[in-house]
Amino acid sequence: MTGLRILVVDDDPDLCRVACWTLEGMATCEVAHDLQSAARLLDASAFDLVLIDVTLRGESGLALLDQVRYRWPDTAATVISGSDDLDVAQEALARGALAYLVKPFRVNDLRIHVATVCATHRRMHASGACPPRAGIVAEIESMFASDTEVVCAVVEFRQLPLVGRAGTATSHELGDRLEQSARMLEGLDFVGVLGPASFVLAGPCELGATRADAPDLVRMAIDATARVPAGLGHLAPGFVVGVSVRSDDAETLLTEAEASARAALEHHVPALRFTSELEDAACDELELSSDLAAAIAGRDLRVAYQPQYLSGSLRVIGIEALARWHHATRGDVCPSVFVPIAERHGLIAPLGGHVLREACRAAANLTPDPARGPRISVNVSVAQLRDAAFTDTVLGALTEARLPAARLCLEVTESLVLEDTELLRAHFRRLSEYGIRWSLDDFGTGFSTFESLAEFPWSELKVDSTLTAQFERRSGREILRSIVAMAGRLDLDVVAEGVESTRQFEALRAIGFDAVQGYLMARPMPLERLREELAAPVARDLRTRFATAT
Ligand code: C2E
Ligand code: MG
Ligand code: MG
Repeated sequence: MTGLRILVVDDDPDLCRVACWTLEGMATCEVAHDLQSAARLLDASAFDLVLIDVTLRGESGLALLDQVRYRWPDTAATVISGSDDLDVAQEALARGALAYLVKPFRVNDLRIHVATVCATHRRMHASGACPPRAGIVAEIESMFASDTEVVCAVVEFRQLPLVGRAGTATSHELGDRLEQSARMLEGLDFVGVLGPASFVLAGPCELGATRADAPDLVRMAIDATARVPAGLGHLAPGFVVGVSVRSDDAETLLTEAEASARAALEHHVPALRFTSELEDAACDELELSSDLAAAIAGRDLRVAYQPQYLSGSLRVIGIEALARWHHATRGDVCPSVFVPIAERHGLIAPLGGHVLREACRAAANLTPDPARGPRISVNVSVAQLRDAAFTDTVLGALTEARLPAARLCLEVTESLVLEDTELLRAHFRRLSEYGIRWSLDDFGTGFSTFESLAEFPWSELKVDSTLTAQFERRSGREILRSIVAMAGRLDLDVVAEGVESTRQFEALRAIGFDAVQGYLMARPMPLERLREELAAPVARDLRTRFATAT
Protein backbone atom coordinates (compact mmCIF):
# COMPACT_ATOMS: atom_id res chain seq x y z
CA MET A 1 0.00 0.00 0.00
CA THR A 2 2.98 2.38 0.50
CA GLY A 3 3.81 4.51 -2.49
CA LEU A 4 0.23 5.82 -2.57
CA ARG A 5 -0.01 9.58 -2.96
CA ILE A 6 -3.08 11.30 -1.63
CA LEU A 7 -4.14 14.94 -1.85
CA VAL A 8 -6.44 16.13 0.92
CA VAL A 9 -8.46 19.18 -0.15
CA ASP A 10 -10.26 20.70 2.82
CA ASP A 11 -10.45 24.22 4.20
CA ASP A 12 -10.48 22.87 7.73
CA PRO A 13 -6.81 22.52 8.80
CA ASP A 14 -7.80 20.21 11.68
CA LEU A 15 -9.47 17.74 9.34
CA CYS A 16 -6.44 17.81 7.05
CA ARG A 17 -4.14 17.10 9.99
CA VAL A 18 -6.32 14.22 11.20
CA ALA A 19 -6.50 12.74 7.68
CA CYS A 20 -2.72 12.94 7.19
CA TRP A 21 -2.07 11.46 10.60
CA THR A 22 -4.61 8.67 10.03
CA LEU A 23 -3.12 7.72 6.68
CA GLU A 24 0.48 7.87 7.88
CA GLY A 25 2.41 4.75 6.86
CA MET A 26 -0.21 3.96 4.28
CA ALA A 27 0.20 6.89 1.93
CA THR A 28 2.07 10.14 1.44
CA CYS A 29 -0.39 12.98 1.91
CA GLU A 30 -0.32 16.54 0.70
CA VAL A 31 -2.81 19.19 1.67
CA ALA A 32 -4.61 22.01 -0.14
CA HIS A 33 -7.06 24.40 1.49
CA ASP A 34 -8.67 25.75 -1.68
CA LEU A 35 -9.36 24.80 -5.30
CA GLN A 36 -6.53 26.89 -6.71
CA SER A 37 -3.79 25.29 -4.59
CA ALA A 38 -5.33 21.86 -5.25
CA ALA A 39 -5.11 22.46 -9.02
CA ARG A 40 -1.50 23.64 -8.68
CA LEU A 41 -0.50 20.50 -6.71
CA LEU A 42 -2.32 18.18 -9.15
CA ASP A 43 -0.54 19.89 -12.03
CA ALA A 44 2.81 19.55 -10.32
CA SER A 45 2.74 15.80 -9.56
CA ALA A 46 0.64 12.65 -9.90
CA PHE A 47 -1.74 11.58 -7.12
CA ASP A 48 -3.57 8.27 -6.72
CA LEU A 49 -6.48 9.77 -4.84
CA VAL A 50 -7.92 13.20 -3.99
CA LEU A 51 -10.11 13.52 -0.92
CA ILE A 52 -12.29 16.55 -1.60
CA ASP A 53 -14.37 18.42 0.92
CA VAL A 54 -17.73 19.37 -0.57
CA THR A 55 -17.52 23.05 0.43
CA LEU A 56 -14.31 24.99 0.65
CA ARG A 57 -14.55 28.54 1.99
CA GLY A 58 -17.59 29.19 -0.09
CA GLU A 59 -16.26 27.35 -3.16
CA SER A 60 -17.70 24.09 -4.36
CA GLY A 61 -15.42 21.11 -3.96
CA LEU A 62 -17.55 19.36 -6.57
CA ALA A 63 -16.16 21.73 -9.21
CA LEU A 64 -12.80 20.06 -8.69
CA LEU A 65 -14.35 16.73 -9.69
CA ASP A 66 -14.95 17.97 -13.25
CA GLN A 67 -11.37 19.09 -13.47
CA VAL A 68 -10.04 15.82 -12.06
CA ARG A 69 -12.10 13.88 -14.58
CA TYR A 70 -10.84 15.83 -17.57
CA ARG A 71 -7.39 16.97 -16.56
CA TRP A 72 -6.07 14.24 -14.26
CA PRO A 73 -8.06 11.12 -15.22
CA ASP A 74 -5.53 8.80 -13.58
CA THR A 75 -6.47 10.20 -10.18
CA ALA A 76 -9.39 8.75 -8.22
CA ALA A 77 -11.60 11.11 -6.22
CA THR A 78 -13.62 10.71 -3.04
CA VAL A 79 -15.91 13.44 -1.78
CA ILE A 80 -16.00 14.08 1.95
CA SER A 81 -19.01 15.89 3.33
CA GLY A 82 -20.68 16.81 6.57
CA SER A 83 -24.03 16.34 4.84
CA ASP A 84 -25.78 13.06 4.16
CA ASP A 85 -27.94 14.70 1.47
CA LEU A 86 -28.59 12.02 -1.15
CA ASP A 87 -28.84 14.58 -3.97
CA VAL A 88 -25.38 15.93 -3.24
CA ALA A 89 -23.96 12.40 -3.01
CA GLN A 90 -25.56 11.42 -6.30
CA GLU A 91 -24.28 14.51 -7.99
CA ALA A 92 -20.76 13.86 -6.71
CA LEU A 93 -20.90 10.28 -8.03
CA ALA A 94 -22.35 11.40 -11.37
CA ARG A 95 -19.51 13.90 -11.68
CA GLY A 96 -16.89 11.21 -11.32
CA ALA A 97 -16.32 10.65 -7.58
CA LEU A 98 -15.67 7.01 -6.78
CA ALA A 99 -17.19 7.38 -3.35
CA TYR A 100 -18.93 9.76 -0.97
CA LEU A 101 -17.85 9.72 2.64
CA VAL A 102 -19.93 11.38 5.37
CA LYS A 103 -18.18 13.10 8.29
CA PRO A 104 -17.57 12.37 11.09
CA PHE A 105 -15.93 9.04 10.41
CA ARG A 106 -13.79 6.81 12.57
CA VAL A 107 -10.06 6.67 11.97
CA ASN A 108 -10.16 3.11 10.70
CA ASP A 109 -13.09 3.90 8.40
CA LEU A 110 -10.90 6.33 6.50
CA ARG A 111 -8.02 3.85 6.23
CA ILE A 112 -10.30 1.09 4.96
CA HIS A 113 -12.02 3.52 2.63
CA VAL A 114 -8.74 4.68 1.09
CA ALA A 115 -7.52 1.11 0.69
CA THR A 116 -10.79 0.11 -0.99
CA VAL A 117 -11.01 3.08 -3.33
CA CYS A 118 -7.39 2.78 -4.44
CA ALA A 119 -7.73 -0.96 -5.07
CA THR A 120 -10.98 -0.46 -7.00
CA HIS A 121 -9.46 2.32 -9.06
CA ARG A 122 -6.46 0.15 -9.91
CA ARG A 123 -8.69 -2.79 -10.85
CA MET A 124 -10.81 -0.54 -13.05
CA HIS A 125 -7.65 0.76 -14.68
CA ALA A 126 -6.44 -2.76 -15.34
CA SER A 127 -9.76 -3.78 -16.89
CA GLY A 128 -9.92 -0.58 -18.90
CA ALA A 129 -13.18 0.40 -17.21
CA CYS A 130 -11.72 3.48 -15.57
CA PRO A 131 -10.72 6.03 -16.33
CA PRO A 132 -13.40 5.63 -18.98
CA ARG A 133 -11.29 7.44 -21.49
CA ALA A 134 -8.38 5.01 -21.29
CA GLY A 135 -10.70 2.03 -21.80
CA ILE A 136 -12.40 3.72 -24.72
CA VAL A 137 -9.09 4.63 -26.36
CA ALA A 138 -7.88 1.03 -25.95
CA GLU A 139 -11.02 -0.35 -27.57
CA ILE A 140 -10.82 2.06 -30.50
CA GLU A 141 -7.13 1.23 -30.92
CA SER A 142 -8.06 -2.43 -31.35
CA MET A 143 -10.27 -1.50 -34.33
CA PHE A 144 -7.40 -0.22 -36.46
CA ALA A 145 -6.13 -2.71 -39.01
CA SER A 146 -3.77 -2.19 -41.93
CA ASP A 147 -6.47 -1.44 -44.52
CA THR A 148 -9.11 0.32 -42.46
CA GLU A 149 -9.95 3.70 -41.12
CA VAL A 150 -11.97 4.04 -37.96
CA VAL A 151 -15.02 6.28 -37.56
CA CYS A 152 -15.51 7.66 -34.07
CA ALA A 153 -18.66 9.51 -33.00
CA VAL A 154 -19.03 11.36 -29.71
CA VAL A 155 -22.65 11.89 -28.76
CA GLU A 156 -23.22 14.69 -26.25
CA PHE A 157 -26.63 14.91 -24.66
CA ARG A 158 -27.59 18.14 -23.04
CA GLN A 159 -30.59 19.89 -21.63
CA LEU A 160 -32.76 16.82 -21.78
CA PRO A 161 -34.80 16.36 -18.65
CA LEU A 162 -33.57 12.80 -18.95
CA VAL A 163 -29.96 13.86 -18.55
CA GLY A 164 -30.62 16.85 -16.35
CA ARG A 165 -31.21 14.55 -13.45
CA ALA A 166 -27.84 13.06 -14.19
CA GLY A 167 -27.64 9.81 -12.32
CA THR A 168 -25.94 6.60 -13.24
CA ALA A 169 -29.20 4.88 -14.00
CA THR A 170 -30.03 7.62 -16.51
CA SER A 171 -26.65 7.31 -18.15
CA HIS A 172 -27.12 3.57 -18.40
CA GLU A 173 -30.53 4.06 -19.90
CA LEU A 174 -29.14 6.39 -22.53
CA GLY A 175 -26.21 4.08 -23.07
CA ASP A 176 -28.60 1.20 -23.75
CA ARG A 177 -30.49 3.27 -26.28
CA LEU A 178 -27.27 4.25 -27.98
CA GLU A 179 -26.25 0.62 -28.20
CA GLN A 180 -29.49 0.03 -30.09
CA SER A 181 -28.68 2.99 -32.32
CA ALA A 182 -25.21 1.68 -32.98
CA ARG A 183 -26.65 -1.65 -34.08
CA MET A 184 -28.71 0.21 -36.67
CA LEU A 185 -25.56 1.73 -38.09
CA GLU A 186 -23.67 -0.89 -39.95
CA GLY A 187 -20.20 -1.35 -38.49
CA LEU A 188 -20.48 1.03 -35.53
CA ASP A 189 -20.19 -0.26 -31.99
CA PHE A 190 -21.11 1.36 -28.72
CA VAL A 191 -17.71 1.84 -27.11
CA GLY A 192 -18.36 3.53 -23.80
CA VAL A 193 -19.48 6.37 -21.59
CA LEU A 194 -17.21 9.43 -21.36
CA GLY A 195 -19.32 11.34 -18.87
CA PRO A 196 -22.86 11.38 -17.51
CA ALA A 197 -24.18 12.67 -20.84
CA SER A 198 -21.38 11.84 -23.25
CA PHE A 199 -21.10 8.59 -25.19
CA VAL A 200 -18.76 7.14 -27.78
CA LEU A 201 -19.57 5.00 -30.82
CA ALA A 202 -16.85 3.73 -33.15
CA GLY A 203 -16.19 1.22 -35.88
CA PRO A 204 -13.89 0.44 -38.75
CA CYS A 205 -14.77 1.58 -42.25
CA GLU A 206 -13.20 0.62 -45.57
CA LEU A 207 -10.36 2.82 -46.79
CA GLY A 208 -11.57 5.10 -49.55
CA ALA A 209 -15.17 4.53 -48.56
CA THR A 210 -15.08 7.08 -45.75
CA ARG A 211 -18.58 8.36 -45.42
CA ALA A 212 -18.93 12.08 -45.67
CA ASP A 213 -22.45 11.77 -44.30
CA ALA A 214 -21.37 9.75 -41.25
CA PRO A 215 -22.33 12.49 -38.73
CA ASP A 216 -25.84 12.76 -40.09
CA LEU A 217 -26.25 9.00 -40.26
CA VAL A 218 -25.25 8.66 -36.64
CA ARG A 219 -27.58 11.44 -35.67
CA MET A 220 -30.52 10.05 -37.55
CA ALA A 221 -30.09 6.63 -36.01
CA ILE A 222 -29.92 8.09 -32.52
CA ASP A 223 -32.89 10.32 -33.20
CA ALA A 224 -34.88 7.22 -33.87
CA THR A 225 -34.10 5.70 -30.49
CA ALA A 226 -33.17 8.41 -28.01
CA ARG A 227 -36.62 9.96 -27.70
CA VAL A 228 -35.84 13.67 -27.85
CA PRO A 229 -38.87 15.37 -26.30
CA ALA A 230 -41.22 16.46 -29.03
CA GLY A 231 -40.94 20.13 -29.89
CA LEU A 232 -37.51 20.63 -28.35
CA GLY A 233 -35.55 18.78 -30.97
CA HIS A 234 -35.43 21.45 -33.65
CA LEU A 235 -35.00 24.43 -31.33
CA ALA A 236 -32.24 23.16 -29.15
CA PRO A 237 -31.00 19.75 -30.10
CA GLY A 238 -31.20 17.40 -27.13
CA PHE A 239 -27.92 16.01 -28.32
CA VAL A 240 -25.20 16.67 -30.85
CA VAL A 241 -22.87 14.33 -32.67
CA GLY A 242 -19.20 14.99 -33.38
CA VAL A 243 -17.48 12.64 -35.79
CA SER A 244 -13.92 12.05 -36.91
CA VAL A 245 -12.28 9.46 -39.14
CA ARG A 246 -8.60 8.42 -38.98
CA SER A 247 -6.39 5.54 -39.96
CA ASP A 248 -4.27 5.65 -36.81
CA ASP A 249 -4.00 7.05 -33.27
CA ALA A 250 -7.10 6.32 -31.21
CA GLU A 251 -6.39 9.06 -28.67
CA THR A 252 -6.27 11.75 -31.36
CA LEU A 253 -9.33 10.29 -33.07
CA LEU A 254 -11.34 10.49 -29.86
CA THR A 255 -10.09 14.02 -29.12
CA GLU A 256 -11.08 15.12 -32.62
CA ALA A 257 -14.56 13.64 -32.28
CA GLU A 258 -14.95 15.40 -28.93
CA ALA A 259 -13.83 18.71 -30.46
CA SER A 260 -16.38 18.25 -33.25
CA ALA A 261 -19.15 17.60 -30.74
CA ARG A 262 -18.19 20.75 -28.83
CA ALA A 263 -18.14 22.78 -32.04
CA ALA A 264 -21.56 21.38 -32.94
CA LEU A 265 -22.88 22.49 -29.55
CA GLU A 266 -21.29 25.89 -29.90
CA HIS A 267 -22.59 26.52 -33.41
CA HIS A 268 -26.01 25.05 -32.64
CA VAL A 269 -25.77 22.46 -35.37
CA PRO A 270 -26.85 18.89 -34.77
CA ALA A 271 -23.79 17.14 -36.17
CA LEU A 272 -20.28 18.03 -37.30
CA ARG A 273 -17.38 16.20 -38.82
CA PHE A 274 -13.81 17.04 -37.82
CA THR A 275 -12.01 19.41 -40.19
CA SER A 276 -8.61 21.09 -40.22
CA GLU A 277 -10.20 24.38 -39.13
CA LEU A 278 -11.62 22.59 -36.14
CA GLU A 279 -8.18 21.16 -35.47
CA ASP A 280 -6.70 24.66 -35.25
CA ALA A 281 -9.60 25.82 -33.13
CA ALA A 282 -9.28 22.79 -30.84
CA CYS A 283 -5.54 23.40 -30.30
CA ASP A 284 -6.15 27.07 -29.69
CA GLU A 285 -8.92 26.34 -27.23
CA LEU A 286 -6.79 23.84 -25.32
CA GLU A 287 -4.04 26.41 -25.01
CA LEU A 288 -6.45 29.14 -23.93
CA SER A 289 -8.16 26.87 -21.41
CA SER A 290 -4.90 25.97 -19.74
CA ASP A 291 -3.87 29.65 -19.62
CA LEU A 292 -7.29 30.48 -18.20
CA ALA A 293 -6.93 27.78 -15.52
CA ALA A 294 -3.59 29.34 -14.55
CA ALA A 295 -5.10 32.84 -14.54
CA ILE A 296 -7.93 31.72 -12.25
CA ALA A 297 -5.53 29.87 -9.96
CA GLY A 298 -3.23 32.91 -9.81
CA ARG A 299 -6.24 35.17 -9.21
CA ASP A 300 -5.24 37.13 -12.33
CA LEU A 301 -8.83 37.64 -13.46
CA ARG A 302 -10.10 41.14 -12.78
CA VAL A 303 -13.63 42.38 -12.30
CA ALA A 304 -14.98 45.49 -14.02
CA TYR A 305 -18.07 47.29 -12.74
CA GLN A 306 -20.74 48.98 -14.82
CA PRO A 307 -23.36 51.10 -13.04
CA GLN A 308 -27.08 50.91 -13.75
CA TYR A 309 -29.04 54.14 -13.30
CA LEU A 310 -32.65 54.82 -12.41
CA SER A 311 -34.03 56.42 -15.54
CA GLY A 312 -35.97 59.06 -13.60
CA SER A 313 -33.56 60.36 -10.94
CA LEU A 314 -30.36 59.11 -12.62
CA ARG A 315 -29.31 57.68 -9.26
CA VAL A 316 -27.09 54.56 -9.36
CA ILE A 317 -29.41 51.69 -8.46
CA GLY A 318 -27.16 48.79 -9.29
CA ILE A 319 -23.75 47.73 -10.52
CA GLU A 320 -23.00 44.82 -12.84
CA ALA A 321 -19.80 42.88 -12.20
CA LEU A 322 -18.12 41.72 -15.42
CA ALA A 323 -15.12 39.39 -15.60
CA ARG A 324 -11.99 40.70 -17.34
CA TRP A 325 -8.94 38.72 -18.48
CA HIS A 326 -5.75 40.22 -19.79
CA HIS A 327 -3.70 37.51 -21.51
CA ALA A 328 0.08 37.98 -21.53
CA THR A 329 0.44 37.59 -25.33
CA ARG A 330 -3.10 37.89 -26.70
CA GLY A 331 -4.03 41.02 -24.77
CA ASP A 332 -7.58 41.43 -23.47
CA VAL A 333 -9.73 38.36 -24.14
CA CYS A 334 -13.51 38.96 -24.30
CA PRO A 335 -15.78 37.29 -21.73
CA SER A 336 -17.87 36.02 -24.64
CA VAL A 337 -14.76 34.01 -25.62
CA PHE A 338 -13.39 32.86 -22.27
CA VAL A 339 -16.65 32.25 -20.36
CA PRO A 340 -17.78 29.48 -22.78
CA ILE A 341 -14.27 27.98 -22.65
CA ALA A 342 -14.47 27.99 -18.85
CA GLU A 343 -17.85 26.23 -19.11
CA ARG A 344 -16.47 23.51 -21.37
CA HIS A 345 -13.30 22.87 -19.42
CA GLY A 346 -14.68 22.57 -15.91
CA LEU A 347 -13.43 26.06 -14.97
CA ILE A 348 -16.69 27.97 -14.68
CA ALA A 349 -17.22 27.23 -10.97
CA PRO A 350 -13.83 28.61 -9.89
CA LEU A 351 -14.18 31.52 -12.34
CA GLY A 352 -17.73 32.35 -11.24
CA GLY A 353 -16.80 31.88 -7.57
CA HIS A 354 -13.90 34.30 -7.94
CA VAL A 355 -16.04 37.00 -9.58
CA LEU A 356 -18.81 36.48 -7.02
CA ARG A 357 -16.49 36.84 -4.02
CA GLU A 358 -14.69 39.88 -5.48
CA ALA A 359 -18.00 41.54 -6.37
CA CYS A 360 -19.55 40.91 -2.94
CA ARG A 361 -16.45 42.27 -1.22
CA ALA A 362 -16.42 45.34 -3.44
CA ALA A 363 -20.14 46.00 -2.88
CA ALA A 364 -19.81 45.64 0.90
CA ASN A 365 -17.04 48.24 0.97
CA LEU A 366 -18.65 50.79 -1.34
CA THR A 367 -20.79 52.42 1.32
CA PRO A 368 -20.26 53.03 5.06
CA ASP A 369 -23.31 50.89 5.84
CA PRO A 370 -23.25 47.59 3.90
CA ALA A 371 -27.03 47.32 4.32
CA ARG A 372 -27.45 50.43 2.14
CA GLY A 373 -26.00 50.98 -1.27
CA PRO A 374 -26.49 49.95 -4.87
CA ARG A 375 -27.21 46.31 -5.65
CA ILE A 376 -24.44 44.23 -7.13
CA SER A 377 -25.38 42.05 -10.10
CA VAL A 378 -23.27 39.00 -10.87
CA ASN A 379 -23.60 36.91 -14.04
CA VAL A 380 -24.15 33.22 -13.44
CA SER A 381 -23.76 30.54 -16.11
CA VAL A 382 -26.32 27.80 -16.24
CA ALA A 383 -23.34 25.43 -15.87
CA GLN A 384 -22.80 26.84 -12.35
CA LEU A 385 -26.39 25.99 -11.42
CA ARG A 386 -25.74 22.32 -12.16
CA ASP A 387 -23.58 22.29 -9.08
CA ALA A 388 -25.41 21.17 -5.94
CA ALA A 389 -23.07 23.34 -3.87
CA PHE A 390 -23.96 26.56 -5.78
CA THR A 391 -26.33 27.85 -3.09
CA ASP A 392 -23.68 27.31 -0.43
CA THR A 393 -21.08 29.05 -2.61
CA VAL A 394 -23.30 32.13 -2.89
CA LEU A 395 -24.20 32.20 0.80
CA GLY A 396 -20.51 31.68 1.66
CA ALA A 397 -19.49 34.67 -0.48
CA LEU A 398 -22.13 36.87 1.21
CA THR A 399 -21.07 35.81 4.69
CA GLU A 400 -17.39 36.28 3.94
CA ALA A 401 -18.02 39.79 2.59
CA ARG A 402 -20.69 40.60 5.24
CA LEU A 403 -22.96 41.71 2.43
CA PRO A 404 -26.73 41.53 3.05
CA ALA A 405 -28.39 39.08 0.65
CA ALA A 406 -30.84 41.75 -0.54
CA ARG A 407 -27.97 43.63 -2.18
CA LEU A 408 -27.07 40.71 -4.44
CA CYS A 409 -28.71 40.06 -7.80
CA LEU A 410 -27.85 37.01 -9.89
CA GLU A 411 -28.18 37.39 -13.67
CA VAL A 412 -29.02 34.28 -15.68
CA THR A 413 -29.92 33.97 -19.35
CA GLU A 414 -33.00 32.31 -20.78
CA SER A 415 -31.05 29.23 -21.82
CA LEU A 416 -31.68 27.91 -18.31
CA VAL A 417 -35.20 26.92 -19.27
CA LEU A 418 -33.78 24.10 -21.30
CA GLU A 419 -32.09 22.70 -18.23
CA ASP A 420 -35.02 23.00 -15.90
CA THR A 421 -34.18 20.49 -13.19
CA GLU A 422 -35.15 20.04 -9.56
CA LEU A 423 -31.66 21.11 -8.55
CA LEU A 424 -31.90 24.34 -10.50
CA ARG A 425 -35.27 25.18 -9.01
CA ALA A 426 -33.96 24.41 -5.53
CA HIS A 427 -31.17 27.00 -6.01
CA PHE A 428 -33.74 29.59 -7.12
CA ARG A 429 -36.03 28.81 -4.23
CA ARG A 430 -33.43 28.76 -1.49
CA LEU A 431 -31.57 31.85 -2.62
CA SER A 432 -34.81 33.78 -3.15
CA GLU A 433 -35.81 32.90 0.41
CA TYR A 434 -32.66 34.67 1.60
CA GLY A 435 -33.72 37.78 -0.34
CA ILE A 436 -31.35 37.41 -3.29
CA ARG A 437 -32.80 38.79 -6.54
CA TRP A 438 -32.79 36.95 -9.86
CA SER A 439 -32.52 38.85 -13.11
CA LEU A 440 -33.39 37.41 -16.51
CA ASP A 441 -30.48 38.63 -18.63
CA ASP A 442 -30.39 39.24 -22.39
CA PHE A 443 -34.19 39.11 -22.47
CA GLY A 444 -35.45 38.95 -26.03
CA THR A 445 -32.53 37.05 -27.53
CA GLY A 446 -33.50 33.56 -26.41
CA PHE A 447 -36.29 31.31 -27.50
CA SER A 448 -38.30 30.18 -24.50
CA THR A 449 -38.96 33.60 -23.13
CA PHE A 450 -42.49 33.19 -21.84
CA GLU A 451 -41.93 29.79 -20.37
CA SER A 452 -38.90 31.06 -18.47
CA LEU A 453 -40.86 34.07 -17.22
CA ALA A 454 -43.61 32.00 -15.78
CA GLU A 455 -41.51 29.26 -14.26
CA PHE A 456 -38.94 31.07 -12.14
CA PRO A 457 -39.14 33.72 -9.38
CA TRP A 458 -37.56 36.62 -11.28
CA SER A 459 -37.28 40.11 -9.83
CA GLU A 460 -36.02 41.82 -12.96
CA LEU A 461 -35.91 41.65 -16.75
CA LYS A 462 -32.82 42.94 -18.52
CA VAL A 463 -33.81 43.70 -22.06
CA ASP A 464 -30.99 42.93 -24.47
CA SER A 465 -29.23 45.68 -26.42
CA THR A 466 -30.35 44.19 -29.75
CA LEU A 467 -33.95 45.01 -28.72
CA THR A 468 -33.31 48.36 -27.04
CA ALA A 469 -31.50 49.47 -30.24
CA GLN A 470 -34.85 49.13 -32.07
CA PHE A 471 -36.30 52.23 -30.37
CA GLU A 472 -36.34 54.27 -33.58
CA ARG A 473 -38.60 51.86 -35.46
CA ARG A 474 -42.27 51.97 -34.70
CA SER A 475 -42.51 48.19 -34.42
CA GLY A 476 -39.43 48.17 -32.14
CA ARG A 477 -41.04 50.75 -29.84
CA GLU A 478 -44.28 48.72 -29.73
CA ILE A 479 -42.40 45.57 -28.75
CA LEU A 480 -40.51 47.46 -26.04
CA ARG A 481 -43.78 48.95 -24.75
CA SER A 482 -45.36 45.49 -24.57
CA ILE A 483 -42.38 44.13 -22.65
CA VAL A 484 -42.55 46.99 -20.14
CA ALA A 485 -46.31 46.52 -19.73
CA MET A 486 -45.95 42.78 -19.26
CA ALA A 487 -43.13 43.27 -16.73
CA GLY A 488 -45.34 45.72 -14.81
CA ARG A 489 -48.15 43.17 -14.60
CA LEU A 490 -45.75 40.50 -13.42
CA ASP A 491 -44.28 42.92 -10.88
CA LEU A 492 -40.82 42.83 -12.42
CA ASP A 493 -38.35 45.71 -12.76
CA VAL A 494 -37.15 46.33 -16.31
CA VAL A 495 -33.61 47.36 -17.15
CA ALA A 496 -32.57 48.45 -20.64
CA GLU A 497 -29.12 47.25 -21.70
CA GLY A 498 -26.79 48.84 -24.25
CA VAL A 499 -27.99 52.44 -23.99
CA GLU A 500 -25.58 54.38 -26.18
CA SER A 501 -27.22 57.67 -27.16
CA THR A 502 -29.28 60.42 -25.56
CA ARG A 503 -32.11 59.83 -28.04
CA GLN A 504 -32.19 56.15 -27.12
CA PHE A 505 -32.16 57.04 -23.41
CA GLU A 506 -35.03 59.50 -23.76
CA ALA A 507 -37.08 57.06 -25.83
CA LEU A 508 -36.56 54.20 -23.35
CA ARG A 509 -37.40 56.45 -20.41
CA ALA A 510 -40.59 57.55 -22.15
CA ILE A 511 -41.51 53.91 -22.84
CA GLY A 512 -41.24 53.24 -19.11
CA PHE A 513 -37.93 51.50 -18.42
CA ASP A 514 -37.12 51.75 -14.69
CA ALA A 515 -33.39 51.54 -15.14
CA VAL A 516 -30.78 51.90 -17.86
CA GLN A 517 -27.27 50.60 -18.38
CA GLY A 518 -24.91 51.45 -21.22
CA TYR A 519 -21.93 53.27 -22.60
CA LEU A 520 -23.85 56.58 -22.63
CA MET A 521 -23.85 56.68 -18.85
CA ALA A 522 -20.73 54.67 -18.04
CA ARG A 523 -18.57 51.90 -19.47
CA PRO A 524 -17.46 48.96 -17.29
CA MET A 525 -14.68 50.35 -15.07
CA PRO A 526 -12.22 49.28 -12.38
CA LEU A 527 -13.32 49.48 -8.74
CA GLU A 528 -11.30 52.63 -8.02
CA ARG A 529 -13.07 54.52 -10.82
CA LEU A 530 -16.43 53.20 -9.66
CA ARG A 531 -15.83 54.75 -6.24
CA GLU A 532 -15.17 58.11 -7.90
CA GLU A 533 -18.26 57.68 -10.07
CA LEU A 534 -20.41 57.02 -7.00
CA ALA A 535 -18.89 59.90 -5.07
CA ALA A 536 -19.47 62.37 -7.93
CA PRO A 537 -22.69 64.37 -8.02
CA VAL A 538 -23.90 61.80 -10.51
CA ALA A 539 -27.27 63.08 -11.58
CA ARG A 540 -26.16 66.64 -12.29
CA ASP A 541 -23.04 65.44 -14.05
CA LEU A 542 -25.04 63.02 -16.15
CA ARG A 543 -27.59 65.61 -17.16
CA THR A 544 -24.75 67.80 -18.35
CA ARG A 545 -23.22 64.90 -20.20
CA PHE A 546 -26.53 63.86 -21.75
CA ALA A 547 -27.03 67.37 -22.95
CA THR A 548 -23.75 67.21 -24.87
CA ALA A 549 -23.80 63.53 -25.87
CA THR A 550 -24.69 62.59 -29.41
P1 C2E B 1 -24.06 40.65 -20.20
O1 C2E B 1 -24.24 40.06 -18.86
O2 C2E B 1 -25.28 40.92 -21.01
O3 C2E B 1 -23.25 41.99 -19.97
C1 C2E B 1 -23.42 43.16 -20.69
C2 C2E B 1 -22.40 43.27 -21.77
O4 C2E B 1 -22.69 44.42 -22.58
C3 C2E B 1 -21.00 43.52 -21.24
O5 C2E B 1 -20.10 42.92 -22.17
C4 C2E B 1 -20.89 45.04 -21.30
O6 C2E B 1 -19.55 45.49 -21.35
C5 C2E B 1 -21.59 45.31 -22.59
N1 C2E B 1 -22.16 46.67 -22.64
C6 C2E B 1 -22.58 47.45 -21.64
N2 C2E B 1 -23.08 48.62 -22.10
C7 C2E B 1 -23.00 48.58 -23.45
C8 C2E B 1 -23.35 49.49 -24.52
O7 C2E B 1 -23.85 50.57 -24.31
N3 C2E B 1 -23.12 49.04 -25.79
C9 C2E B 1 -22.57 47.83 -26.06
N4 C2E B 1 -22.35 47.50 -27.33
N5 C2E B 1 -22.22 46.94 -25.08
C10 C2E B 1 -22.43 47.32 -23.80
P2 C2E B 1 -18.89 42.04 -21.70
O8 C2E B 1 -18.29 42.59 -20.46
O9 C2E B 1 -18.03 41.84 -22.89
O10 C2E B 1 -19.58 40.67 -21.29
C11 C2E B 1 -20.19 39.88 -22.25
C12 C2E B 1 -20.96 38.77 -21.60
O11 C2E B 1 -20.08 37.84 -20.95
C13 C2E B 1 -21.90 39.25 -20.51
O12 C2E B 1 -23.08 39.75 -21.10
C14 C2E B 1 -22.09 37.98 -19.71
O13 C2E B 1 -23.06 37.17 -20.33
C15 C2E B 1 -20.74 37.29 -19.86
N6 C2E B 1 -19.97 37.51 -18.63
C16 C2E B 1 -19.19 38.56 -18.27
N7 C2E B 1 -18.67 38.36 -17.04
C17 C2E B 1 -19.14 37.15 -16.60
C18 C2E B 1 -18.97 36.38 -15.39
O14 C2E B 1 -18.31 36.78 -14.43
N8 C2E B 1 -19.62 35.17 -15.33
C19 C2E B 1 -20.41 34.72 -16.36
N9 C2E B 1 -21.00 33.53 -16.23
N10 C2E B 1 -20.58 35.42 -17.51
C20 C2E B 1 -19.96 36.63 -17.62
MG1 MG C 1 -25.41 40.37 -17.40
MG1 MG D 1 -27.11 41.10 -20.94
